Amino acid sequence: MTELLSNYVAGRWQAGNGAGTPLFDPVLGTELVRVDAGGLDLAEGFGFARETGGAGLRALTYKQRAGLLAAVVKVLQANRDAYYEIATANSGTVKNDSAVDIDGAIFTLGQYAKWGDALGDVHALRDGDAVKLGKEPVFQSQHLQVPTRGVALFINAFNFPSWGLWEKAAPALLSGVPVIVKPATATAWLTQRMVRDVVEAGVLPAGALSVVCGSSAGLMDQLQGFDVVSFTGSADTGAVIRSHAAVAQRSVRVNIEADSLNSALLLPDAAPDSESFKLLVREVVREMTVKSGQKCTAIRRILVPAALYDATAEAIGAKLAGITVGNPRNEGVRMGSLVSRGQLDSVREGLEALKAQAGVLYDGSQAQLVDADPAVAACIGPVLLGARDADAAQRVHDVEVFGPVATLLPYRDLDHAVALAHRGQGSLVTSLYGADEAALGRAAVQLAASHGRVHVITPDVAQAHTGHGNVMPHSLHGGPGRAGGGAELGGLRALDFYHRRAAVQASPGVLGQLGLAQA
Ligand code: NAP
Repeated sequence: MTELLSNYVAGRWQAGNGAGTPLFDPVLGTELVRVDAGGLDLAEGFGFARETGGAGLRALTYKQRAGLLAAVVKVLQANRDAYYEIATANSGTVKNDSAVDIDGAIFTLGQYAKWGDALGDVHALRDGDAVKLGKEPVFQSQHLQVPTRGVALFINAFNFPSWGLWEKAAPALLSGVPVIVKPATATAWLTQRMVRDVVEAGVLPAGALSVVCGSSAGLMDQLQGFDVVSFTGSADTGAVIRSHAAVAQRSVRVNIEADSLNSALLLPDAAPDSESFKLLVREVVREMTVKSGQKCTAIRRILVPAALYDATAEAIGAKLAGITVGNPRNEGVRMGSLVSRGQLDSVREGLEALKAQAGVLYDGSQAQLVDADPAVAACIGPVLLGARDADAAQRVHDVEVFGPVATLLPYRDLDHAVALAHRGQGSLVTSLYGADEAALGRAAVQLAASHGRVHVITPDVAQAHTGHGNVMPHSLHGGPGRAGGGAELGGLRALDFYHRRAAVQASPGVLGQLGLAQA
């Protein structure tokens, strides 16, 4: 029997009362650990976090809580090697891909520690300046942001067990709001291990951080009016969360990050030998292969001028041919596996659905695996599809294949390209490649309405840009419509979700005291 991972709830480690759900190595097929959340007293757990955790965090100032984030960074850095081992075993990722999850989390926490430190020793945040309410300035209105007096429940997706926790926990803890995380079952081990290390290091107040591994049953039922829930996962589960009584009746604030048909767009003036063309090709290949395409921000649709369709297919295909796929422990492997055989089935199914409307331009799906048994490993090589009639191929704008798959689409002119990007019905990110700054600026403004982030790459930023799919804490993460309508990160904007805004109407003398008193 493998180890049954404990849950950390109500300030103590508690095992579930069931046999547990096994977690597997997706390359070797071996069982690693088990998780179970059966029999937990969730009411006690949520109450403890809300009261003890909330009070402990709110007793501190923003600057002091920033210090907690910095302490968490140290704990995670000290245990980094163990996290890489777990990621290789449970997520099947090569080292560079594990880094996106693990070091991306540490970087994000460190960044919020810096931003929080600058907020100073205050307990509430002023929101704008005070304005006088009458002719004389003796009675004024000041908007104020105070931490919500509830818990933040995170229900996370399988593809980022580390970053998914910490990119949400950083702004929540900095805001003074305790966190309860429920990682996706398939990869819960890394999340649980990180929480365990932070709890054992004793760097956070009691009740500030809890973890429930296993079934999500009953979690949403615990939420009360001042709590918040942040969900990352499929649109279908997102719809279940949104329609739960906690949200629909008790006004629990909800943030949803769902699936997304992100695009990359080569501007009309690019020639096949141009720097912009090469930058697009490089980025598409990177996005298709990092974490085997299991990134919510990955490029799914590639929009190019019709005249460059064949040249682009050839250039991307040539680079994909050099991608080795298999066991991430083998130094020669560039791309590891998907997270499970179940995901492999789902990628194959999605590919078949797309193939009904798109041709295959490069097929790595049958390529030989390095050091891995195709009958066991959840590995699949990259596949580039293409549809010459981008308008008719509706599924390409609809079906998210969560793996190393993207579709090339030709456009007539820039208006057509922008219209095709909008066909994603709201996406997390689009990237633009070109050299004409005026055209790029116009396109960026047009695309901003349906995208959370517009990543514009000109030759002069070739070395400096942070990557289409890389979520930087400085920029908004989330997208309208189909992408879930969520908003995470974006610097201190992320704190809004964990705060309540109120207007205080008082004399300047009273207003001068705000922020100093404990919230
Ligand atoms: P999922 O099946 O929707 O699961 C997401 C989470 O919800 C898991 O923790 C899951 O727990 C839990 N869950 C399942 N049913 C639930 C219910 N009825 N009530 C409450 N929680 C429930 O999604 P996934 O397959 O893990 O993730 C893949 C999807 O996530 C992709 O579509 C991808 O695009 C999206 N994603 C989006 C972002 C973003 O930032 N926008 C980031 C990453 C991934 P169990 O694991 O225990 O079932």
